[in-house]
Order: sequence, then C-alpha cells, then structure tokens
Amino acid sequence: MTTDPGKRSAALVLFSGGQDSTVCLAWALARYTHVETVGFDYGQRHDVELTCRRNVREAIDRAFPHWQARLGGDHMIEIPALSKISETALTRDVEIAMQENGLPNTFVPGRNLLFFTYAAALGHRRGLKALVGGMCETDYSGYPDCRDDTLQSLAHAIRLGTETDFVIETPLMRLSKAQTWELAEDLGGKALVELIIEHTHTCYTGARDKRHDWGYGCGVCPACELRANGFAQWSEKSAENAISG
Ligand code: ZN
Repeated sequence: MTTDPGKRSAALVLFSGGQDSTVCLAWALARYTHVETVGFDYGQRHDVELTCRRNVREAIDRAFPHWQARLGGDHMIEIPALSKISETALTRDVEIAMQENGLPNTFVPGRNLLFFTYAAALGHRRGLKALVGGMCETDYSGYPDCRDDTLQSLAHAIRLGTETDFVIETPLMRLSKAQTWELAEDLGGKALVELIIEHTHTCYTGARDKRHDWGYGCGVCPACELRANGFAQWSEKSAENAISG
C-alpha cells in the first residue's frame, strides 16, 4: 500500500469557511486536478460559518478561473450527536473560558478524529483519497486532536480500516499564523489575501459588524487575537521585505 500523495489526483478538504481551511482549499486547488469540500454541522451557535463557506467558494470561483474547473462539489454532514455529548462554548450558550486542564472550553473532545473518519467514508464513495485539513499544532498545542502524531495515526487506521490508500494532509501543521498569511499570498497573491480578509470567519462569536485590517470578528476572543497578531506580524515582515528588496 503506497502513501505517495503524487499518485492521487483528487482531494477532499475539510472546509469550515474559516481562514485556515480556506488556505487549505487554495493549497489543494494548486495541487489536485479535482477538489471537493466537506463541512460539518454539529449545532454550532452561528449560522455565519455556514454562510461564509458558501461565500468563500463563490469568491474563489469568481477570482481564480484556473481553479474554477478544479473545484467540485460541496458536502455537508450533520453530526447532531456531537453537540449532545459535548458541553462546550461552541455548542452551548456559555462564556468562552480557559479550563483547569489548560484547554479553552471551546474544545470538543476528539472532534477532528470524527471529522476525518466521516471525510474518509465520503472520500471513499467519491474517489477522493487525499483528505486535507487545516489543523495546526503551532498555535494550539493544547488540542490533542490537532497534533500531527494523532492525525497520522488516524490516517494509518483509516487506510487499514478501508483498505484504501488514503492520506491525511495538513499543510498548516507547522506554520505560525503569520506564515499562514504568507502561504495564502504565495498561493493566490493579494487577491487570495483580500478574499480571506473579506469572506472568511474565524471569530468564536458571530460578530461581522466591523472590518479590521485582518478581517471581521469581535477582536478580543482567542481566535481573533491569533488571527490579528498573525496578520500584524506578517504585514510587518512584508513591509521590511519591501524596503530591503
Ligand atoms: Zn472574535
């Protein structure tokens, strides 16, 4: 059984409409001749995420004609059981806070294991053997299901359990948030950076009333803070490069 990604032509991207999964979608479109997206509805508090998914896909369609032909269907999988088991800030109307174990209470235990397993079941039917996700262990080292070890072990289990040469690809795994902005620019230039600022949603609250230089959001939750700091670092570095270049 080979795990050489070069042998695959079709990918399935775990796509939430956020910054990270949008960069992953662009990354996959640059590499694979056919790319589909999958989203998971597990009772998130905000419909904004679902709207952003649609808007991002449409914006990519308009702005990147060479990717348009590669971008295939979008799938939604409902996992209502997840919100029934998990009492977290994402699925219940409670304040976002740090817990004693050092993880924010937005954490849904094992969520990414479920997502990739569902994605593999869908990918198996659709012939999509590269499963792509925006997990990153640099910024959120506290999330055990975002770690490379966890996901590559899962990929192994999925290959065994399906007798299919699936791979799990996580292009952002070792990147800082500043490097994620840099990757976006490498993949799609200023147009992709602008698309991410305008159309993606990362904020833990549904706030989209104010546009900051890094995009929309409440500006104070941990997700906004990461996104804003990463953007500031990347902008500063771009400015320095422009001067020295
Ligand atoms: Zn926020």
